[in-house]
Amino acid sequence: MNEYDSNRIYDLISVIDFKKTDIKKEADCFVLNTCHIREKATEKVYDEIGRVKKYFRNLKKPLLIVSGCVAQAESEEMLKREPYIDIVIGPQSYHKISDLILNYQRTKKKFNETEFDVVRKFDELQKISNSQNKISSYLTIQEGCDKFCHFCVVPYTRGPEYSRPFDQIITEAYTLVKNGAKEITLLGQNVNAYNFFDKNNNYKLSSLIYELNNIKNLKRIRFTTSHPKDMTNDLINCFKDCKKLMPFLHLPVQSGSDKILKLMNRKHDLNYYLSIIKKLEKINKDIKFSSDFIVGYPGETESDFEDTITLIKKIGFVNSYSFIFSPRPGTPATNKKLNDLTESKKRLQKLQSILESFQLEKNKKYRGKYCEVLVENKLDMQEKYFGRTKCMSPVIFESDSCKPGELVNVKIASINQNNLFGIHQSNKEKAA
Ligand code: SAM
Ligand code: SF4
Repeated sequence: MNEYDSNRIYDLISVIDFKKTDIKKEADCFVLNTCHIREKATEKVYDEIGRVKKYFRNLKKPLLIVSGCVAQAESEEMLKREPYIDIVIGPQSYHKISDLILNYQRTKKKFNETEFDVVRKFDELQKISNSQNKISSYLTIQEGCDKFCHFCVVPYTRGPEYSRPFDQIITEAYTLVKNGAKEITLLGQNVNAYNFFDKNNNYKLSSLIYELNNIKNLKRIRFTTSHPKDMTNDLINCFKDCKKLMPFLHLPVQSGSDKILKLMNRKHDLNYYLSIIKKLEKINKDIKFSSDFIVGYPGETESDFEDTITLIKKIGFVNSYSFIFSPRPGTPATNKKLNDLTESKKRLQKLQSILESFQLEKNKKYRGKYCEVLVENKLDMQEKYFGRTKCMSPVIFESDSCKPGELVNVKIASINQNNLFGIHQSNKEKAA
């Protein structure tokens, strides 16, 4: 979502004639768009500011803006701790960035803007066209979260759940497709909690997917990140009805132990999670799953951890993420007695090596086979292209005829842990 926000921040400040530059010393404004989901994020921001300071020591000081969730969480503290910062701006108030910059240029007064003003944010953003022009583009449909998992800072930094108006999203989707997008990933911290009421209509994530499925030049649809509790039947049915919805779902479970899920306040147990997986597999035999896992949550025993390993082996997740529990200030889990870090590291290593082995097995199955790839770009300085399979696996391949944005069949010749390598046979070659 920070990638989406960064693009929109750029759209906003283009209006006051700020332009992107790749030449660092030419920059007269730095925006550090930050994430606060795990520890060290705050320190990383100060480290980065230290690097900017050092670089500009003998040059004109650039305007320094910190945006995103670290800004929201640290707020006024940031201005006190680091006088090099000029403006602090939260993720729900970045629509005000141009006014704040102009105001700073006039008055040289530092400013901290961390109000939750999400409705106005999207109303303002709607007035400025989304200039994102990637083959695979992001589109935020929902923000914030009301679930309050005990480890998670999102409800405090992004605020309560908010769903953007249905028509606003569809208009933006058409803009992205006009800009060249062939794949749209619908985004939200809790994307499948999307729920918008308008007159007599109640729009859900499934309503958006059906609508996007009808956009002529759009080829693929994805959504992330989903909470198991909100995987309703209407959404599950989209995996049967909507050909453009990719058969790949990121559905974080966090732990395979009911005891830990309860301690985390996840609001689902293992059986419920498995029942969702089963329904999806029944409806779409090609579907694959990925997940997030937290290791070493306070109270996790060896046997709880083994339950997570059993679950991983049962489902065979691909492309997953895993983290050691990181206490976040202000969350209920923050004061709990921490697990032994050495033990948690060992568990993480074990879990990751099992996930990696599934990933490798999955990649091996592609060898010698054709797979459908959405071409995203030509690789710099190489006669090769980059694209992704339906399940998001990166593919690097040779072709004498493909163009970014096309769906092509690539024959996979070799693989490694993360990538597939192959050749796209043009029609000309096939005929010969
Ligand atoms: N809403 C999604 C869900 O409920 O599954 C997750 C979104 S969260 C922004 C992304 C991931 O960060 C989580 O799934 C979790 O695994 C990880 N995460 C969040 N807080 C964490 C913490 N305090 N320590 C370690 N990992 C954390
Ligand atoms: Fe965080 Fe996701 Fe839980 Fe919400 S549902 S509190 S975003 S982990």
